[in-house]
Amino acid sequence: MFIMTRYIFVTGGVVSGLGKGVITASIGKILKSKGFSVTAIKIDPYLNYDAGTLRPTEHGEVWVTDDGGEIDQDLGHYERFLDITLSRDHNITSGKIYYSVIEKERRGRYLGQTVQPIPHVTDEIKNWIYRVSKESGCDFTLVEIGGVVGDYENILFLEAARQMRMENPGRVLFVHVAYVPILKSLGEMKTKPVQHSVKELRAIGIQPDFIVARCEGELDDVRRAKISLFTNVDQRDIFSAPDLEVVYELPLIFEKMGFGDRILEKFGLRPIESDLSDWEKFVDTLKNSSKVVRVGIVGKYFRTGMYSLPDAYISVIEAVKHGAAYLGFKPRFEYINSVDIEEDPSLLDKLDNVDCIIIPGGFGATGVEGKIMAINYARENSIPILGLCYGFQLMVVEFARNVVGLEKAHTTEVDRKTPHPVITILPEQAKILSEDRYGGTMRLGSHKVILKRGSLAFEVYGREVIYERFRHRYEVNPKYVDVLEEHGLLFTGMSEDGIKQLGELDRRLHPYFIGSQFHPEFTSRPLKPNPLFRALIAHGVGRR
Ligand code: GLN
Repeated sequence: MFIMTRYIFVTGGVVSGLGKGVITASIGKILKSKGFSVTAIKIDPYLNYDAGTLRPTEHGEVWVTDDGGEIDQDLGHYERFLDITLSRDHNITSGKIYYSVIEKERRGRYLGQTVQPIPHVTDEIKNWIYRVSKESGCDFTLVEIGGVVGDYENILFLEAARQMRMENPGRVLFVHVAYVPILKSLGEMKTKPVQHSVKELRAIGIQPDFIVARCEGELDDVRRAKISLFTNVDQRDIFSAPDLEVVYELPLIFEKMGFGDRILEKFGLRPIESDLSDWEKFVDTLKNSSKVVRVGIVGKYFRTGMYSLPDAYISVIEAVKHGAAYLGFKPRFEYINSVDIEEDPSLLDKLDNVDCIIIPGGFGATGVEGKIMAINYARENSIPILGLCYGFQLMVVEFARNVVGLEKAHTTEVDRKTPHPVITILPEQAKILSEDRYGGTMRLGSHKVILKRGSLAFEVYGREVIYERFRHRYEVNPKYVDVLEEHGLLFTGMSEDGIKQLGELDRRLHPYFIGSQFHPEFTSRPLKPNPLFRALIAHGVGRR
């Protein structure tokens, strides 16, 4: 079938960090709830090829796609809100664009021409968007342009978007998301920054069709009128995105304000009733449930002041919300820095106040002993615990040391000379690292996992074959599997080539002590929580 894709570009103004990803995903969600198919692309103007080598405390979590892309976390919002699976190509960076242009130039594709930002780079950007849209075959493609209008680094992406409007009359809209501050000293909402950012956008030839005002509270009529006057955007097309306790509420707010139908109208389509009833119930539970589950996260990517907290573990946090809401609970998080535990072990007492614990993924030596102490505490006190990737590997280390009696057992990632390398580098990874090839070379993306019948994992998933996403270089050392299993740590999930993908403590020893080499947080969706999280919450609240 031939589909005339419609494009919605989302740009940012005034400051970054406005939650454009959630806003883009929410627009997609309302269109989807009206029966359309929707896909989304994220543009990151940085020169890194992908997000794989970025520091988590600075850039937040790295999202892993089914096909092994390491991407900005906004793709996670898209997959969660829209319940879709995206490929790595749904993320465009300047690095990818330039890489491709230069490669073509070297292969003689532009022979004779002077290769220039316009048209060659902009063509590359447009063709990428067209190609991905065509492959997706959706009614709508949302394209979020990272950064802020006025930045040097996203100018060519904005120019490509401007050209796309010209090439597709009536099929391209622009949504501009800008910050409206409330000045504390005046107690007043100020619209001047929005006015200026739209002026900037218009200077590069883009008149926005919609404005989303990001503000602490709702936009009032006076400010709406003022923004409209100075930006040439109809008052009916200015929406506010207030601060929300539960971000999943945003599509509901947008839909109530009529955003979806205004979009359809501008594309020349008839208004359509949306169906968001399941979503409403989900949001209502997260906002209003009187039943609370307390979840401890023992990690290390918490920056001082704890400002970047939700960012580095965002998918883990969201997956907990999905699992909790499914069971009618609202989660309350306790964040514990494993580095602090090492300095002050009495912090482990905090774990007495949670219903269940998660040890998320990570890299390197920092905070590892603190995580091992937390695992030990959970194991000995029968607190339900889920280890993710590094968390799983450290469960194995803890068990080897304290139950099997292999005193100095470790992962070779931290201690290369350990007498008991219970976690060791995957053979193909050793080669990759010896060649200094760090970018995009881990064992990545979705792989098949076969669960052992009768195991806890099998019971949790309710089936034998699952697909989950991976991002690692190390694995359980096959040489230690027998001795670990003899003592009660059972490996109940396997890859087809024999890598241990999942471990659990014998149920006679602990109610829920389970770790996965994969990252179940990447496949969790609001209305379809990942089973490992759902079961963790169920065991946590069941213990009371
Ligand atoms: N550092 C570990 C490895 O590379 C775990 C990675 C992770 O937690 N994502 O295997």
